Amino acid sequence: MVHKFDAIVVGAGGAGLRCALELSQHNFNVAVLSKLYPVRSHTGAAQGGVGAALGNEEPDSPEWHFFDTVKGSDYLGDQDAIEIMCEDAIETVLELEHFGLPFSRTPDGKIAQRPFGGHTSNFGEAPVKRACYAADRTGHMILHTLYEQCVKNQVRFFNEFYVLDLIVEGETCQGVIAYDLATGEVNVFQAKATMLATGGHGRAFSITSNAHTYTGDGMAICFRRGIPMEDMEFVQFHPTGMRKLGILVSEAARGEGGILRNREDLDNIGTGKDGFMAAIAPTIKDLAPRDVVSRAMYNEIKEGRGIAGTGDPGSDYLYLDLVHLGADTINTQLPDISHFARTYLAVEPIKEPIPVQPTTHYAMGGIPTDVEGRVLWDAKNKPVPGLYAAGEVACVSVHGANRLGTNSLVDIIVFGRRGGKDMVRYLQETEFSRMTGEPDAFIRGEIDRLQNGGGKEQVVDIRTNMQKVMMVECGVYRTKESLTKARDAIMELRQRYQQVSVADKRACFNTELMEAIELGFLLDSAWTIAESALIRNESRGAHSREDFPERDDENWLKHTFIHYVEDGKVKFDYKPVTITKFQPKPRVY
Ligand SMILES: Cc1cc2nc3c(=O)[nH]c(=O)nc-3n(C[C@H](O)[C@H](O)[C@H](O)COP(=O)(O)OP(=O)(O)OC[C@H]3O[C@@H](n4cnc5c(N)ncnc54)[C@H](O)[C@@H]3O)c2cc1C
Repeated sequence: MVHKFDAIVVGAGGAGLRCALELSQHNFNVAVLSKLYPVRSHTGAAQGGVGAALGNEEPDSPEWHFFDTVKGSDYLGDQDAIEIMCEDAIETVLELEHFGLPFSRTPDGKIAQRPFGGHTSNFGEAPVKRACYAADRTGHMILHTLYEQCVKNQVRFFNEFYVLDLIVEGETCQGVIAYDLATGEVNVFQAKATMLATGGHGRAFSITSNAHTYTGDGMAICFRRGIPMEDMEFVQFHPTGMRKLGILVSEAARGEGGILRNREDLDNIGTGKDGFMAAIAPTIKDLAPRDVVSRAMYNEIKEGRGIAGTGDPGSDYLYLDLVHLGADTINTQLPDISHFARTYLAVEPIKEPIPVQPTTHYAMGGIPTDVEGRVLWDAKNKPVPGLYAAGEVACVSVHGANRLGTNSLVDIIVFGRRGGKDMVRYLQETEFSRMTGEPDAFIRGEIDRLQNGGGKEQVVDIRTNMQKVMMVECGVYRTKESLTKARDAIMELRQRYQQVSVADKRACFNTELMEAIELGFLLDSAWTIAESALIRNESRGAHSREDFPERDDENWLKHTFIHYVEDGKVKFDYKPVTITKFQPKPRVY
């Protein structure tokens, strides 16, 4: 079936819905395609908060937010984009309030705010209350509020439609190819402008806070069409994943006063006394940025101070102590995560500490865009006409080498909205062009190979291998040796993937087929992450090379752009970091 819309938004998370809402306020024919029912998108799992310098609880300013984000990014974030984000944050959060988002409140009725990692007052002086929150369900509330507004504005939704390819004619994007899960039909969606808002790729790793659907689809779809990926080596590990499960315990728990403890510190549980982070980041302690805390935890464990004392970062863990906060704070400010601790770990956080270990959390890298959300063909900022990206799938880059907590929810609403506004401009200036050939032929061929190819490989084997190798060899710490191992293993798994076939041949709700396709996307992400990490011979933000432990501004203050050449072969080019106000300095917290 062929559909024709002025604009298509792929993804119904925060970024996609905010973009669709913007488009729906103009007289355009808009469709949102989502592989999930919209309110099941991962934005709904975000717990802690959305950062905006409202100053409701204590003095704050967008310039401090700007500085913290630049410093948090280890100076790799583009400062023009960061400044825009921190300024726009205020307006977009207030807009959400006016759309009806039920924020937690201060006693005098303003939006409540709490501290979060790396957010400070007066350029690093002390933690500041900047995260606007709705208990520990902030993302859930954002998602539902935006969905309601889209429904009110009669946005057209195609749910459980998997986008598998872009339609690119010459150098212009003309829409997408999507597989309808209910019928097995391959659909062509022609559009003048397309927004990709498909989220991250955390499922390339074995321990992750990310939803099962975080399979890097948008990134892989672009990469295969010759669009480069930016800064893929930067993958964030969040310090407090539940032990073995990776399920997130939000940083809001430390924002409320939670403290990390090692085995030498067990007597202090419930006392509120400082833990080991006080020696590593004397000013902001447990609220240091995530890369700093994750590395500190890894080192504590490696040096035998993990709770089990085994010295093995793969299996040992630490404690997150909330006991001193008391039942009231835990139950009212952190209801969901305390419920998770009870359900998944049989731990009562009011009485005992929660066992935690770092978990793969966020993709700083992704599809390169400018500050209007336009996707770029290369490091020289040449746009792909008709193609936009926003949210976790995109790299603007506002997070650089390490994202601060609360800055992704800001990113999705700010750049979803900006992308939507620029699409309006583009739609007003652009006519439909004629589609030629059979744009869906490639995808039909792929589906046919997976269903009828007769290969003997199983999706689950390849996926499990990939996730293990990425976690072990491409994790919190990396070396040339480990990354080469990861890259070679991924190349071999990509070969094996050619022999995958699915047993289920049906057309209706064939989730086995979808998992096979998602694995193909994940293998592309894993490949680009390993190659990009291997080439960056320095340590910066979340990318920690044991063989190059220092940050190297002389050679590496630049973004990596990885291009697909042919299977097994990539090439790189580089883009300078935009520096406007804050010159790179050593990071001290
Ligand atoms: C557990 C957890 C807690 C978090 N907490 C916070 C927090 O407190 N503060 C913060 O700032 N950030 C937080 N983050 C990060 C933040 O939530 C995400 O980065 C952000 O919500 C991503 O939004 P998005 O719109 O880009 O993608 P998503 O919300 O994930 O939406 C992606 C959409 O794309 C669709 N899609 C994907 N692939 C396809 C395809 N092939 N075809 C069709 N549709 C497709 C999906 O159906 C979905 O609708 C958290 C993340 C996690 C995992």
